[in-house]
Amino acid sequence: MSADHEARKELGFDPDALREKYRIERDKRLREDGNEQYVEVKGQFSHYVEDPYITDRIQREPLTDEVDVAIIGGGFGGLLAGVRLRQAGVANIRMIEKGDEFGGTWYWNRYPGAACDIESYVYLPLLEETGYIPPKKYVEGADIMAYSQQIAKQWNLYDDVCFQTEVQELRWDEAAQRWIIKTNQGDAMKARFVISSNGPLNRPKLPGIEGIDSYQGHTFHTSRWDYAYTGGDAHGNLTGLKDKRVGIIGTGATAVQCVPHLGAAAKELFVFQRTPSSIDERNDKPTDEEWVKSLKPNWHQERMDNFNTLVSGGVTDEDLVNDGWTEIIRNLLLMIRNEDEPDMSMEAIMEKMELADFQKMESIRSRVEAVIEDPETAEHLKPYYRQFCKRPCFHDDYLPTFNRENVHLIDTEGRGIDRITPKGIVANGVEYELDCIIFGTGFEVGTEYTRRCGYDTYGREGKSLSQHWADGARTYHGLHSSGFPNSFMMGTLQTAFTANYPHSLNEQAKHIAYIVNQCMEGNHQVVEATADAEQEWVDTIISLARMNEKFLADCTPGYYNNEGKPTERSQQNTSYGAGPVAFFKMLEDWRAEGMMSGLQLK
Ligand code: NDP
Repeated sequence: MSADHEARKELGFDPDALREKYRIERDKRLREDGNEQYVEVKGQFSHYVEDPYITDRIQREPLTDEVDVAIIGGGFGGLLAGVRLRQAGVANIRMIEKGDEFGGTWYWNRYPGAACDIESYVYLPLLEETGYIPPKKYVEGADIMAYSQQIAKQWNLYDDVCFQTEVQELRWDEAAQRWIIKTNQGDAMKARFVISSNGPLNRPKLPGIEGIDSYQGHTFHTSRWDYAYTGGDAHGNLTGLKDKRVGIIGTGATAVQCVPHLGAAAKELFVFQRTPSSIDERNDKPTDEEWVKSLKPNWHQERMDNFNTLVSGGVTDEDLVNDGWTEIIRNLLLMIRNEDEPDMSMEAIMEKMELADFQKMESIRSRVEAVIEDPETAEHLKPYYRQFCKRPCFHDDYLPTFNRENVHLIDTEGRGIDRITPKGIVANGVEYELDCIIFGTGFEVGTEYTRRCGYDTYGREGKSLSQHWADGARTYHGLHSSGFPNSFMMGTLQTAFTANYPHSLNEQAKHIAYIVNQCMEGNHQVVEATADAEQEWVDTIISLARMNEKFLADCTPGYYNNEGKPTERSQQNTSYGAGPVAFFKMLEDWRAEGMMSGLQLK
């Protein structure tokens, strides 16, 4: 027996065969239209984004007054910006939010089962400042929304908030050196500084499929759950569905959480799958009181940093979170430590990384086999791609739902559904008649920033951000754009991407608050990125993205890799490729230097 054969036997799989299988599965899913396959939720589809949670429509006079800082978005980004500004002594803040409360993504995503699958002790920001300890390792959506409100109360962010207010335009008034903010409430508010934190997953998307506008039954998107139709609440008990044939399109992180509730309630549930998610164990548990008592000051930042390092492929002595997110790196480190090669080359590390990934995904596939009773269904539920090509999911009830007699997996072999008819969905050439279609089809990611915001920003000489970014995003640190003074953006574009998004928002918020404070204390009316600093940053983003190109190009299509079509533009419209640890350190060093380099102040 050859040494190679022996090695494969020991692994329990053949890496070459798996690599080839991944390629075949990816190729099935590649499509020419990429992001164009989805329709924008506007015009005849705009009812999909109407707010189903508002009880009383706000009636108020339009506002034309002036504040120091206007913050657009009442999710964690906006809240953290508000908190960090308050801590820096900025009193005159206005929050603007299109929903009817704080909470951001957790305001909108109230579907049954909504919960966070990043550990709550690292996901929720400001835990030491608020003294809040989440009740469980993985906290529910309703608790996260309540916590958002607690933050807003503690830092008096309710004092000057405009809910149900959607920004329509930001325009720089050069003479006054102020931003004019126009909204759907008729406002023309003025602000010295504007911070936009619109959320990277805020625009629901629908498949651009033949017949989507012809369906006669009931329909909604998961981010606007229609409890009036389904009955029940975020804990399930969807009694309105007991005599209904329900179809859900999509099997991403959202569907994984709501399908168990749909399966338990609907007369028949049809789950239309294009690509299976990777479903790992969740292992939720109540918070250990003894552990809480043992926590030392700064535990929260240390835990967030520890998680962030591990999920970005870094090394730490200890894995504090110790869950499915960090396991792959734990395995890799074990593998590397077990080798007698102290100075392993980058290439060798990448090979080991791939092996650790194969092992992890093999265990995910074995889990499917162990849980699913019908072998054919099990085969369809096995994901064949590397773990971080798509967002990994963690759930203990999703897979068992497919053992229920009333639940049917309609796998489409990577093609997606064929079309929608007045009566239901056609997939694999078969029409499924349905009383209700739920779109679990996710959110726009690869489309233009201003389209996802829902408004354009007009900077110096009336130039719009969409014009300035016509050939791709142009920022300095992802936070400023040249020609758009006193304006900041928070998000993932040209900043750090990390699985724990609020961590990144917190670092961005600290940075922005520092800059605003420097301007206010130094009495500088205007702060703006220089064109050179912006160009240098864009070049950095592109060159780092090229280093990650192969990994993404080999991945199954999805929003992580521009639907399988990494392009020059998508390499520019991406995150900082050296990772969040380096990015946060860079911002911190920049502040410590105190030179405001790359910015001009007037
Ligand atoms: P996703 O974009 O992850 O999933 C959309 C789903 O729709 C995919 O399964 C996709 O298939 C499918 N789809 C799209 N078009 C078609 C079609 N024509 N026919 C059949 N299927 C189709 O959206 P989600 O709302 O599930 O999740 C979005 C993000 O929200 C997550 O990635 C995560 O970041 C976040 N989230 C976080 C949670 C948390 O715990 N913190 C919980 C829930 C969501 P395909 O894969 O082939 O494209």
